[in-house]
Amino acid sequence: MANLETLCVQAGWTPKKGEPRVLPIYQSTTFKYDTSAQMADLFDLKESGYFYTRLQNPTNDAVASKIAQLEGGVGAMLTSSGQAANFYAVFNICEAGDHFISTSAIYGGTSNLFCVTMKKLGIECTFIDQDASDEEIEKAFRPNTKCVFGETVANPAGKILDLQRFANLAHKHGVPLIIDNTFPTPILCRPFEFGADIVTHSTTKYMDGHAMAVGGVVVDSGNFDWEAQHDKFKGLTEPDPSYHGLTYTKSFGKLCYITKATVQLMRDLGSIQSPQNAFLLNVGLETLFLRMPRHCENALACAKYLKNHPKVAWVDYAGLEDNASYALAQKQFKGGLPCGVLTFGIKGGRDKSIQFMDALKLICIVTHVADARSCVLHPASHTHRQLSDEQLIEAGVAPDLIRFSVGIENVNDIIADLEQALAQV
Ligand code: PLP
Repeated sequence: MANLETLCVQAGWTPKKGEPRVLPIYQSTTFKYDTSAQMADLFDLKESGYFYTRLQNPTNDAVASKIAQLEGGVGAMLTSSGQAANFYAVFNICEAGDHFISTSAIYGGTSNLFCVTMKKLGIECTFIDQDASDEEIEKAFRPNTKCVFGETVANPAGKILDLQRFANLAHKHGVPLIIDNTFPTPILCRPFEFGADIVTHSTTKYMDGHAMAVGGVVVDSGNFDWEAQHDKFKGLTEPDPSYHGLTYTKSFGKLCYITKATVQLMRDLGSIQSPQNAFLLNVGLETLFLRMPRHCENALACAKYLKNHPKVAWVDYAGLEDNASYALAQKQFKGGLPCGVLTFGIKGGRDKSIQFMDALKLICIVTHVADARSCVLHPASHTHRQLSDEQLIEAGVAPDLIRFSVGIENVNDIIADLEQALAQV
């Protein structure tokens, strides 16, 4: 395998003689064939090829292939958003009457998807504390449990998940571990190397990196042995009547999970990424390996600055040596730093934190995270405002918590902005 830097720049699109050097945008809903029989074979999955962009598009496939290679997986599927990616990742192996387990410290939108919307579909989710003992977590497994879900670095609290421990727990109970790896990206952490089976991303964040295109991706490691759990995963191991009785595990082997997600879920539910957005995502991916270390370096400098400031109550960044997750971060992340996002609170509580944010100039208040520009958000007032106080605490969100996404600007300018805003509270 080529190194990650080379994959970022070159993977996915290999032009032949006379073809465009840059990945083209195939802005076409449909693709031409010479005979009706050729088209029929595509519909029966006897031949692979493009026929309708809701199922597959060459621009999207090139970008999906690049991300699959970056994560070390066998295949990937782009989605219209990170929300769609997480929904498809779970729904591909769960149906009405099934159950799955998720860590509680996850992104508010995902938490809502799991506990409200998926419940309406008859799928139940049990949330567990990722710091609980193995014995406690194992109590959550049921005979109808189909997967375990977690975030490598939880948004917004920044909690670090012990991937190896969770992979072992999931596998002990015969189910895959699905990991949302949005914050570290494969540049800093490749969850398959720690035993995860499926990886998802909101590509809207660092992968795009410029806050231009909402998108998501599901990546399959190809490692989970679905047939070993034949009766648990009948959607993959038994014939699909919507494809004339084709069985995904038999027809597609290691690619069965991602193929089913594409040809069945995407066919029926839509939520494709537009080729235009996939093109923008690809431009972002080309520099991902340059941006991630810079985000981390700037975040560490800001964390150290804030920690020493008398008006700051607390700082949470796993790159700080006295942080509870420091040792785990050293093991799981390249360079020991998880991403460019850190959290902190201002002395005086919620109102002071809001006052501080309003005084910032360079660092903007936006409902976003993980792009080139530094930004802040107060989750209790913004992204997580639908959660009760109890749910906020479960998600690791203190009322005074400021989520600070450190950009790639000059760090002295970022710190100068923090300093002038702190002087005003
Ligand atoms: N996963 C994580 C970790 C996120 O932070 C987000 C959004 O903030 C999502 C998923 C949802 O992604 P999107 O906004 O692209 O739908």
